[in-house]
Amino acid sequence: MSIKSTMMDYQLTLPPLIDRLGKFFPEVEVVSRLPDKRLHRTNYLAIQQRSKKLASALTQCGVEKGDAVATLMWNHYAHLEAYLGIPAMGAVIHTLNLRLSAEDVAYIANHAGDKILIVDDILLPLYEQFKDKAPFKKVIVVPLTGQGVDDEFINYESFLDTGSSHFQYPTINENDAAGMCYTSGTTGRPKGVVYSHRSTVLHCMAEAMTDSLAISQHDVVTPVVPMFHANAWGLPYTCVLVGAKQVLPGPHLDAESLMDLYEKEQVTLSAGVPTIWMAIKEAREAEPLRWKTADNLRMVVGGAAVPESLFRAFDAFGMKIIQAWGMTETSPIATVGNLKPSLLDESLDTQYQYRIKQGVPLPFVDIRITDETGQEQPWDGHSQGGTEVRGPWVTGAYYNNEDADKFTEDGWLKTADVSHIDAQGYVKLTDRTKDLVKSGGEWISSIDLENAIMGHPDVLEAAVIAVYHPKWDERPLAAIVVKPGKVVTKADIHLWLDGKFSKIWLPDAVETIDEIPKTSTGKFMKIKLREMYSDWVWT
Ligand code: AMP
Repeated sequence: MSIKSTMMDYQLTLPPLIDRLGKFFPEVEVVSRLPDKRLHRTNYLAIQQRSKKLASALTQCGVEKGDAVATLMWNHYAHLEAYLGIPAMGAVIHTLNLRLSAEDVAYIANHAGDKILIVDDILLPLYEQFKDKAPFKKVIVVPLTGQGVDDEFINYESFLDTGSSHFQYPTINENDAAGMCYTSGTTGRPKGVVYSHRSTVLHCMAEAMTDSLAISQHDVVTPVVPMFHANAWGLPYTCVLVGAKQVLPGPHLDAESLMDLYEKEQVTLSAGVPTIWMAIKEAREAEPLRWKTADNLRMVVGGAAVPESLFRAFDAFGMKIIQAWGMTETSPIATVGNLKPSLLDESLDTQYQYRIKQGVPLPFVDIRITDETGQEQPWDGHSQGGTEVRGPWVTGAYYNNEDADKFTEDGWLKTADVSHIDAQGYVKLTDRTKDLVKSGGEWISSIDLENAIMGHPDVLEAAVIAVYHPKWDERPLAAIVVKPGKVVTKADIHLWLDGKFSKIWLPDAVETIDEIPKTSTGKFMKIKLREMYSDWVWT
């Protein structure tokens, strides 16, 4: 007779995490920056009780298991309460991206079938733009500004008062839906990804691990990445799991406001896309003595590749960048770029070569790279191909089974990222599939080029795109933003890149522009750049 496990079938769901808040971390603070810049202070006991009241109030007003409840909110205490309270009663929190066009938000809300909207009072003007096309039966307004809430809406605070903090959680299966997020959809319509309780719990346990982001109750965490961008990379849930203090920036995401906040609240870990850190680097360099005590910060940077120059600059300030790679579809953290012990004896230059890679997969995340024929590529540090991924917090389909061809027959997600993997398991992204430059049969990595160009002391931002070329098929064009008062020519860039790349990689055109267009999540919007240079003629 084969032996059976004697372990309990304990479901991995969010309610036990919510209850931990009150039991073990009641006094730990959650600080939020309000629109007028005042700091709102609460603690985890209050967050636990108010989340349960929200769960109870939603149940009483007829929200049912599996219904979608949308949020249109910045990062603050009420959004955290929604993160916990909505899934706690069996519904699905659907975070709407407030930087999308009104038309896209309306499309997404309809596609998800959102029943209720919880919206910040300061975002009502955006809501007004799409309300006629939206499906919401009730609109609940969070009074962040302290001004009253119009009678046509429900005041969030009064709504909470209709619920009970003694709410009894319904039975939830760990595979039930907990949250929903749409991909940014740079090509085609945005697609829905639905997280389960299990995937959310496992993702935050893996994220907290020492060899991942090493988040503990000793940390003070500021997600700059919005709570509508892949669950702020899971950080609000991970902080709840370990009892870490959260400092939420509200709508104030400029470098000065963030540095002030880090300093005042002694933040130890923050997270965001590279453009946020580029701005902080500039601010910090302009006033080197102003924010001395913010210097022990660990910064999780992802969403786009991190230039080596950014690692070096922050190391010089004493602030440590950790690169992570992932996507909405992967909850999102799939790899983290920590150095292995064997690399610590290597030269600093070698260490930077590893730190600019996207990192090693988290436990249970399987990665492989395949060529156009589906043939798996060796982990030799140069054979590149499409990156495929699977794991317990990787989506196995899109909502409503759209784009089923993005999944292989044997159940892997085909990402749009091209990479190679070295013998130690470090993944290095060379490009998004559609951003690679194909020049005379050779693939040129736009990421490697732009990251090197951004190391030039007079360049603020750089993005490289492929432009049609009658002889070579495509050639690289670099769009650059230079520091105020500086002039940078093509010859300067070629001199700067000399020795770093072979001659045929060097961009044939270097165009200075005022700003690189950005996506709704703050990444370089290459699709827009390609449009800008679509009728480029080589001379
Ligand atoms: P999103 O779903 O909006 O978070 O976008 C996911 C995409 O962002 C990935 O497929 C990558 O193309 C890109 N990305 C995320 N993290 C990184 C990183 N560390 N380096 C380069 N690209 C990244």
